[in-house]
This record gives sequence, structure tokens and C-alpha cells, in this order.
Amino acid sequence: MKPAKTVKDYIRSIVDFPHEGIVFRDVTTLFADARGFRMAVDQLLSPYAGVPIDKVVGLEARGFILGGAVAHQLTTGFVPIRKKGKLPGAVISQAYQLEYGEAVMEIHDDALNPGERVLIVDDLLATGGTARAAIDLCRRLGAEVVGAAFVIDLPELGGRRVVEAAGVEVHALTEFD
Ligand code: AMP
Repeated sequence: MKPAKTVKDYIRSIVDFPHEGIVFRDVTTLFADARGFRMAVDQLLSPYAGVPIDKVVGLEARGFILGGAVAHQLTTGFVPIRKKGKLPGAVISQAYQLEYGEAVMEIHDDALNPGERVLIVDDLLATGGTARAAIDLCRRLGAEVVGAAFVIDLPELGGRRVVEAAGVEVHALTEFD
């Protein structure tokens, strides 16, 4: 009998996208499979059984798909963190370093209430810059970040250390070199 497929088995790797030298870990093949998608969402949730969570915060763009499903399952609200200029209402912004230059993430300034407990969700943790900016945005609105959940961790890029140094526990379903 063939061994059961794991979440990792559904993830497609595309070499040299979006730039030469990058291996893009493509979760659209995971999302497109009913069993794979359910497995990923269930596993993202598993460490938080019994943990009070008020809102799920998803990071643009694949974090919206995962975070929406997680929020539905937890019966919480969902809040997007988006790249600069995409949210229609009043926002607060957080800049962070990229390999070359800087990026800015934004959240609506009324999306979280002080004291709310939030879970951050994204598809992939690389250097941790995006997740760290998201943690800072949530905290600036007075929310408490109870965890950060990812389908994929790229341990060589050190993102887990960055997020943990900010005092947030990381949960990742699988790793790639
Ligand atoms: P970072 O801020 O370096 O942790 O990068 C994380 C963000 O960039 C996530 O939103 C990912 O979707 C995206 N990302 C970074 N590297 C990759 C990769 N190799 N494959 C797919 N997405 C990536």
C-alpha cells in the first residue's frame, strides 16, 4: 500500500521564480486538492485547541486563503494585512527590510481592539521580515499575538528565530531546504 500523502507532498516547487536562484514553493497545488487543503487547515489549527483566539490575521496573499479557512473553523473574525496602498480605509503602516530595499505592510487602524488575542497565518516563513512586520502592526493596535502559523518554514533563512525573538511561538507544518 502506498503511504498516505502528507501536506508536503501537495506543494509544488518551481525553480527560478520569480527570479533566478529562487525555488518558489507553490501552495496552489495544495489548495487545489480537497484532501490536501483540509489537512493543511486542520494541522494549522491543531496546536491552538482550547487556546482563546479572537481574530485570525492573514498576510497577503496566500495567508488570506489559509487564514480565512482557519477563521471559519475557529468561528473568529478575519483581518487582512496587505501590501502598501491596497486597503481602502485608514491604516497604520510598518516598513521592513527586504534583501534589496524595503517593503511596507498595512492594517486598517480599527481592525483589532486592544487586548484582542490574534493568530497570524501565512503560507511560508522565509527571513521572517513579513511576519515580524505583522506582529508589530498587531501590537501597535494593542492586540496580543498568541502565535504565528505557517504551512512552510525555510529554516536556512532564519525566520523562526526572528519571530521567536519577538516573543511569538512559530508553528510550521513542513520544512524545505
Ligand atoms: P519573509 O518575509 O522573507 O519571511 O518572506 C515571507 C513571504 O514571502 C511570504 O508571504 C511568502 O509567501 C513569500 N515567500 C518568500 N520566499 C518564498 C518562496 N521561496 N516560495 C514562495 N513564497 C515565498
